[in-house]
Amino acid sequence: MIDRRSVLAGAVSFAALQPRRGFAAAMRSAEPSPSNAYDLIIVGAGTAGLPAALFTSRRGGRVLVLDSAPVIGGTLHFSTGQMSAAGTRLQQSLGIKDSADAHFDDVMRISEGSANPEIVRLAVDQAGPTVDWLMSIGLEPMAGHPVMGLGHEFYSERRYYWGKDGGRSILAVLTQQLETERKQGRIELLLDSPVTALLTSDSGALEGVRATHDGAEHSYKGRKVLLASGGYSSNPLLWEKLDGYKQHIDAAYPFSQGAGLQLAQSVGGYLRGRSMYLTSFGAVPTDESSPAGIAASFETWPDRRAPWEIYVNVRGERFVREDEPSVNEREHALLPQPDQRYWIVFDEPMLAKAPPGIKDWTRDKIRNAAAKQAVFYSAATLGELARRAGIDARGLEYTVSRYNDDLVNGHDAWGREHLPAQITTAPFYAIRMQGFAITSNVGIAVDARLRVLDVHGNPITGLYAVGEALGHSQTSGKAYVGGMSVTPALSLGRLLGQTLPLGVSTRT
Ligand SMILES: Cc1cc2nc3c(=O)[nH]c(=O)nc-3n(C[C@H](O)[C@H](O)[C@H](O)COP(=O)(O)OP(=O)(O)OC[C@H]3O[C@@H](n4cnc5c(N)ncnc54)[C@H](O)[C@@H]3O)c2cc1C
Repeated sequence: MIDRRSVLAGAVSFAALQPRRGFAAAMRSAEPSPSNAYDLIIVGAGTAGLPAALFTSRRGGRVLVLDSAPVIGGTLHFSTGQMSAAGTRLQQSLGIKDSADAHFDDVMRISEGSANPEIVRLAVDQAGPTVDWLMSIGLEPMAGHPVMGLGHEFYSERRYYWGKDGGRSILAVLTQQLETERKQGRIELLLDSPVTALLTSDSGALEGVRATHDGAEHSYKGRKVLLASGGYSSNPLLWEKLDGYKQHIDAAYPFSQGAGLQLAQSVGGYLRGRSMYLTSFGAVPTDESSPAGIAASFETWPDRRAPWEIYVNVRGERFVREDEPSVNEREHALLPQPDQRYWIVFDEPMLAKAPPGIKDWTRDKIRNAAAKQAVFYSAATLGELARRAGIDARGLEYTVSRYNDDLVNGHDAWGREHLPAQITTAPFYAIRMQGFAITSNVGIAVDARLRVLDVHGNPITGLYAVGEALGHSQTSGKAYVGGMSVTPALSLGRLLGQTLPLGVSTRT
């Protein structure tokens, strides 16, 4: 279960990740003069920004990293941190034959060709070496990994890994590396310092950034600027504007406000990925508000729990075969439903006999929730249940009666195969589910060298972007492809750190 409040509390208490007391003040007093510009200024000390900083510094580059948050790590504090990578040493040691080509083919198959092949190619080529590197510096994958999949469409090979603390397992090893590298004195880190503008010369050339710290504006000169500031998943207004859908659940990092997108646009960059929104198959929301939090997840994967219930939209109509094996199909079926909502409908005998749908919830807990908890409902008749839940009553009554008839005939109108029982006996129950997304789809247009492009397709000199600022849709398309957000952020941040021309000598 993703609990935004507990995760937030965890982020704030992650004291080990905060810089030493006085460190930020020391950095402020050491502001560089224009002739003493940084080789690279990184906007965001998160998933992509940290490896970019580490590897730039290792080559002798002088780096300034600015973050609006009081801690480093960004979405790694929240992320499940599930990575996908092919051709890793771990796979080889287990005799798994895999390749970046096969990974690429899977991403394009699952996304039905809608991911950006140029960026996917770059990401999958770098994923294996990146996961090898993370393991070499202490990241331990869970026992039995890699696996084929978990919450998304399965890969054709076992190339999916994560640590026991999810994103925080990755952050822990990156933090150690940062501490080591900072001792070399080339990485300067300013927290609580949102970048508010890109600085340009009179001729329009990029010169650095402006950031706020302690209520004052500061300018920092840099030869190159990397936008690694994440997406906009905690900015419901921007979400609705860019994706055209209301944001119903907010489970994202609070500093994911879309700043990088606006910075890129301010110097002529443009955005892409606008028609790529896809909802997940949903969770039980905390309440009726939008955005709400997530209270629980109901098991809708038919291979883990064959469904007994039916799923209906606000009109009381079924919209997908409940035991549809492809999560991608289920997600695409939910997308056109009003507000990406559906209700799981069942009766008392089903509740008594079916395996529990919510992990660690007893049947009595469901009954109690239906009596008093938001988004859980019960009633003595289907009509009254519909009225309480906000579903069209005639629609629901018709749908249940049709479903019951189909069961007698042994042929379901939607082709459902698991047909254990009719819905006939009060009390009747409904649980409202909410489809949602936690990654932003729209992002900054870049070329295959991650240079930010202007509307004419020309790179804006010195400006780069990486991570979710590129838009999740670039690496995952209109689909959820396992690990294709966190892994590209890490891998392409690392790649930029290894390859950006700095004009400095390389340190071994
Ligand atoms: C709950 C959850 C679970 C997820 N699970 C997975 C998963 O299992 N697998 C997967 O592939 N993906 C997953 N994702 C997505 C993935 O974690 C993110 O896409 C990825 O971590 C984003 O990395 P990033 O570097 O682009 O952004 P971030 O890691 O968010 O870093 C951006 C940084 O920029 C900072 N920042 C923002 N604005 C400014 C500014 N103006 N000035 C300075 N700094 C700024 C932020 O504070 C932040 O530290 C998940 C996301 C969420 C929310």
